[in-house]
Amino acid sequence: MEGCLFCRIVSGEIPSNKVYEDDQVYAFYDVAPQAPVHFLVVPKKHIASLSEATEEDQALLGHILLVIKDIAAELGLDDGYRVVANTGSDGGQTVMHLHFHVLGKRSLIWPPG
Ligand code: AMP
Repeated sequence: MEGCLFCRIVSGEIPSNKVYEDDQVYAFYDVAPQAPVHFLVVPKKHIASLSEATEEDQALLGHILLVIKDIAAELGLDDGYRVVANTGSDGGQTVMHLHFHVLGKRSLIWPPG
């Protein structure tokens, strides 16, 4: 989608520190990490947020979660990690392209702010 920051990262127009890529998914380190390991996993397809996903995206969403599991294992997040999909204004979403934050290598508190 023209003008979308994460679409421009997926296309390579804006550089990123890539963690993983396949035909459906792109993962890259967050530019403002909130944990020693903090990366984002996005679908290559433009979906504005989780609230915009449809039945058609079911397999894609499942694939993303399994990719997250595999990357976390690859990066040695053996003590656990947190997966977050900020959604909409109350969810604190600032980039309107569905993305999953993955945070690890520190103990995270709950509830979040
Ligand atoms: P959210 O607030 O959940 O929409 O998350 C957006 C995330 O994108 C934030 O954690 C930002 O630090 C991150 N971000 C913004 N621009 C970039 C970029 N160019 N490369 C990597 N991460 C970015």
